[in-house]
Amino acid sequence: MDQDAPWRQPGPAAWAESSARAVLQLMVESIAEIVGYEVAALSVVEGDQLVTLAYTGPEEHRAYLEQPDPVAIIEPVLARATHLGERLRFFESTPLEELEGHWVRIEQVPTDHPDAWQPDDGLLAVLTGDDGAVAGILSVDRPSSGRRPDAHQCSLLERYAAQAERAVLTLFDTRELLEQAAHAASARQLVRSASRPTLGSLVDVLRHTHGQLVASFDACGSWLHVFEPEGPGTSVARTDEGQHVEVPLTLLDEVAIAAPELWERQEPLLSASGRPGDPWGLGASVRGQLLGGGDHAVLGVALGVGDECVGFMALSRLPGQRDWSPVEIDSALQVGHDLGAALMTARALERERRLVADLQRVEDYRSQLVAMLSHELRTPLTVISGNLELLGEADLDPAARRHHEAMRRGTDRMGTVVDDLLLLARVSNPDHPLVALPLDVRRVGREVVALVDSTARAKGVELSLDEPDTPLVVLGDAVELDRLVGNLASNAVKYTGSGGRVAVRFRRAADEVVLTVSDTGIGISEEDQRELFRAFFRSTNPAALRESGTGLGLTTVATIAARHGGRIQVASRLGEGSTFTVSLPASSPVPTSVAPSTEESVQAS
Ligand code: ADP
Repeated sequence: MDQDAPWRQPGPAAWAESSARAVLQLMVESIAEIVGYEVAALSVVEGDQLVTLAYTGPEEHRAYLEQPDPVAIIEPVLARATHLGERLRFFESTPLEELEGHWVRIEQVPTDHPDAWQPDDGLLAVLTGDDGAVAGILSVDRPSSGRRPDAHQCSLLERYAAQAERAVLTLFDTRELLEQAAHAASARQLVRSASRPTLGSLVDVLRHTHGQLVASFDACGSWLHVFEPEGPGTSVARTDEGQHVEVPLTLLDEVAIAAPELWERQEPLLSASGRPGDPWGLGASVRGQLLGGGDHAVLGVALGVGDECVGFMALSRLPGQRDWSPVEIDSALQVGHDLGAALMTARALERERRLVADLQRVEDYRSQLVAMLSHELRTPLTVISGNLELLGEADLDPAARRHHEAMRRGTDRMGTVVDDLLLLARVSNPDHPLVALPLDVRRVGREVVALVDSTARAKGVELSLDEPDTPLVVLGDAVELDRLVGNLASNAVKYTGSGGRVAVRFRRAADEVVLTVSDTGIGISEEDQRELFRAFFRSTNPAALRESGTGLGLTTVATIAARHGGRIQVASRLGEGSTFTVSLPASSPVPTSVAPSTEESVQAS
């Protein structure tokens, strides 16, 4: 890239630049004309260079003047110049060695006048910034009078120099503001792109950020490193050619020491060959081993949040490319904060993802274990139950009969637990997909109510069923939906005392079939309601604990509802009763002439 690349950047900065240049050009031409000089030039200090922005005079000198000069040439000139005003300096015809090759000698045949302008005379105004540093030079040459400046010209020039000074400083301010704004905007974009939730792993985030980073900072290579609590961390580095490179382990050791110190000091790491200020040697290693060549210029900043340094970022520029500007350095330090926060989030998300995957594996293992165990228990349990039944028919003495009864209750209870576990394992198994067929849930309701009714009667609980006359069809598994309604209805009866009421209702609401099972029983505390659908949860309410149960019924109900595309809700008040509501997507009724009846569907499934 050219040395004067900043002048050519597209966008608002370039526009401001060119309009400011036009103003300066106009100014220089007016000064030359009004004060009476053929040549006038205005140069500004750009880093360590003096760059001419406006010139008027013989065309043959233009190209030469447009070459930047080192700022260092100003000092010896000013040292020997005479002050003719606050800004104005004049130096006599003694040629200065330091100016050799930098100062255009504009020939003018001197007159005989004692005040005649000499070919090596120089008249210039020093333009300074608020900090007192030289910001630019306005110089004039070849006076039309052929004389050295008189008092009137000096005061005119002084006035115009003051105006030129303001114009140059405004240009600097505008440029800095625009640069800051551009950097702030691209830094925001950078951080936004690093925070995209769609990016998978941390490596994805780092890779994705590279392009933005390089573009925002007009850099070539980049290295982003994120520390991990254990291990060497995650690194992504790309060279000038955009190739991914492996980060050497020694560099990871160096960055682990340097980055936290840089973060604590909130300082950038600036490294170029021959530049001091890198006690860790990290910059030299980045230049030499990672991002291209030893002669690149590297800007590095630590990434962090609060007191914690979470990583490091380094950018490189090719030799000959412009140096990092103060705005870019400030912007990089700011990016260190913003990107640090974004990467911390990405790191946390990745850890969470890993944790979720681990938990899923544990959960899968648990489900498999439960399924396998309950399966293995089912057969011996059936054998025991069968034999106990046979034994019950035998003529047992009262003591043996009591033992027999206890054994039978125990095996019944075990059978219930095993059956509940088997069903829950089945409905939770992703390898056991739902086989959904159209079925009329009213039929399920009737069957369930008929089954639970005897228990309700025995307890003195009034059980009612309310359903519409028209079919309520859902796509589902008949066995599973039977357990769903059965669990809710039997719970309602179980947790309702004598004299209470249980109502099972089915209705259609918009495109859903809604089942409500309400009771006037013991109710559920708000605290318990939050835990209700967790496997093995049993209420701490003594009234509930008096009833036997596994704590698996509602988990199974919720799982069945979810795999049918439905949802479950509970509304309850302790001591007053509970209402469970299950909503399932409705399916349009199947015309009886072309499809099997819903009853056949149930049997088929
Ligand atoms: P359980 O086999 O213990 O009944 P569930 O999963 O079906 O297991 O229910 C979990 C807990 O929720 C029960 O132990 C009970 O405390 C409470 N519960 C469920 N249904 C009702 C209800 N209709 N009224 C009051 N409490 C209920």
